[in-house]
Amino acid sequence: MSAVAAPFVLVVEDEPRLAKLVADYLRAAGMEVALQDRGDTVVPAVRARPPDLIVLDLMLPGADGLTVCRALRAFSDVPILMLTARVEEVDRLIGLEAGADDYVCKPFSPREVVARVKAILRRGRRDPDASQAQGGLVLDAERYEARWNGEPLDLTPLEFRLLRALAESPGRVFSRDQLLDRLHDDQRSLSDRAIDSHVKNLRRKLEAVEPGHEFIRSIYGVGYRFDPA
Ligand code: CA
Repeated sequence: MSAVAAPFVLVVEDEPRLAKLVADYLRAAGMEVALQDRGDTVVPAVRARPPDLIVLDLMLPGADGLTVCRALRAFSDVPILMLTARVEEVDRLIGLEAGADDYVCKPFSPREVVARVKAILRRGRRDPDASQAQGGLVLDAERYEARWNGEPLDLTPLEFRLLRALAESPGRVFSRDQLLDRLHDDQRSLSDRAIDSHVKNLRRKLEAVEPGHEFIRSIYGVGYRFDPA
C-alpha cells in the first residue's frame, strides 16, 4: 500500500456533462476531484483547501477563467490547466498575462486532459526556470525531457536547449548568432551550419509527434521562429 495521497484536482467547468466527464476520467486515473461550476467561488475554494492542480474553463459565470487565473496567481503557484474554445486566447492564457501553465482546446478528448494533468503533476512544483509550457510543449530542464501533448521527444541536450531558446519566445525571430548565445557554455564552437542541422533534426523529431505542423519556421536571411500549434 502506498502512503502517498491521491493528487487533489479542482475542476472548474460550468457545463455539467463536461465537468462530470472530466471528473470521471481523472478519478479513474486515481485522482481526487472536486467540482466548481462558477468562477467567483474558485478563490475561496482554493484558499479553503489548496488543490494540487486546477482544470479551469475560460468561459464561466461569475468570473471568467482569465480573471480567476490572475486572482489565483496573486497568492498561489498551483498549476493551472485552462480549457478554452478560443484558440486566439491561448497567448494571453499562457505566460505572464494570466499565468496558466498549459491549455487544452475544446472540443477535447477527456484522455487528453488526463494526460496533460498527469504531465503537469509529474513536473511537480511550478518552477519557471525548470520547465515551461507553450501550447502542448512541456520542457523539463532538470531532466532534459521534452514532451509534445504528452508524447516524449527524444532530444539531445543541445536540441533541448535549442528548442527551449526558441519556445521561450514563440513568434520571435532569432538569428543564428542569438541562438548560439542562448545555447550557453560549451557550444561556442558551433557554426551557423551546425545550428541549421540541429534545427533540421529538431524539426524532424517535432514532426514525428505532430505531423503536418511546422513548429520551426525559417525566416529567409534572418533565422528561425517557433510557432506553437
Ligand atoms: Ca464554460
